[in-house]
Amino acid sequence: MNISERIKNIAGSKTLEINALAQSMKQKGIDVVNLTAGEPDFPTPQPIVEAAIEALKAGLTKYTDSSGIPQLREKIAQYVSEKHGVTCTPEQVVVTNGGKQAIFNCLAALVEENDEVIIIDPCWVSYEPMVQILAGKPVHVKTSFENGFKPSLEQIERAITPNTKVIVLNSPNNPTGTVYDAKLLKQIHALAVERNIFIVSDDVYDCLVYDGEYTSIYSISGGKNVALVNAFSKSHSMTGWRVGYLVAPAEIAKAAAKVQAHTTSNINTIAQYAALKAFEVDTTYMKEKFKQRRDLVCKLLEESGFSFVKPGGAFYVLIDVTEFEKDDVTFCTKLLQQAHVALVPGSAFNAPGFVRLSFATSEEALVEGIKRLKKFVGR
Ligand code: PLP
Repeated sequence: MNISERIKNIAGSKTLEINALAQSMKQKGIDVVNLTAGEPDFPTPQPIVEAAIEALKAGLTKYTDSSGIPQLREKIAQYVSEKHGVTCTPEQVVVTNGGKQAIFNCLAALVEENDEVIIIDPCWVSYEPMVQILAGKPVHVKTSFENGFKPSLEQIERAITPNTKVIVLNSPNNPTGTVYDAKLLKQIHALAVERNIFIVSDDVYDCLVYDGEYTSIYSISGGKNVALVNAFSKSHSMTGWRVGYLVAPAEIAKAAAKVQAHTTSNINTIAQYAALKAFEVDTTYMKEKFKQRRDLVCKLLEESGFSFVKPGGAFYVLIDVTEFEKDDVTFCTKLLQQAHVALVPGSAFNAPGFVRLSFATSEEALVEGIKRLKKFVGR
């Protein structure tokens, strides 16, 4: 049977090989320092776990409305309205299987064949495959190290064509940790409204901003031409629970809900009750810990003379390795084989020549990992 051309053309995961190698080395008893984590290393807070147990005991184990239980949609609408100063209603909320499904459902609601979707590089690994699955065309805007990985308005403007339908924004960004300022976001929003382009704002790391104020384009937009994506994954260390949400103008939310209703139905019922509890749980302690680690990692890398942009948010640092090795995949493979440190090659994020270090791990592992990295490059 022939596999669909669209699916055949989607690139495989470049991170998988490195991860598979790291796993097999660990199984052989090799002491690998793994700095590839894409999730907080904290346990899910106990009250959230208890709420799930209670839901199970209460027999809340059946289908729900495919867009989510009314209490959770209500709570999300209230939370988003207050946080962003933009009034939204439960009808605008779709509870999704993590932030990932919120992005996909929203794109599926909007993108037609050959519609162009602007993606800012370096970018999270799944935006491009999602657009390709939907037969849209990913259009990449390349940001530079020198500009702190921020796009300029002119760059975005140049990428726009009559076929541009959507711009995907991700601030704080994975893999750079870059946080966009309000001025830039205002300009991008004005441009999008003027050209009738829709913005999908992936805010899953908005809970982890370390310096100054954070502004989401959703707050600036008043809800116009913007869909907000968020999740409990990073904010409450709930990656495995798979709870995220989309907040979009009613018509788009309705269309995205249709996609979800006919593909996955509701997300796990028990996880929805757990997420409802999450609103009562303060996770500032996680953010404080991540900030300490960010500062530690930046200090260690700086002392060793590595080139990187200090991340303002999320839990990643992108390091330029071109002075040591042209190809980042080769760099990561050798680093793992010879120094037993696992990092993610930047190519996975359209950032060749860079490697991504995650500080979602213990200080001890970070200190040891950077010590080995330093020795490996001969510093
Ligand atoms: N967006 C970005 C930028 C991410 O890094 C991730 C996960 O790593 C997601 C979305 C997906 O989050 P979730 O696990 O909630 O689906």
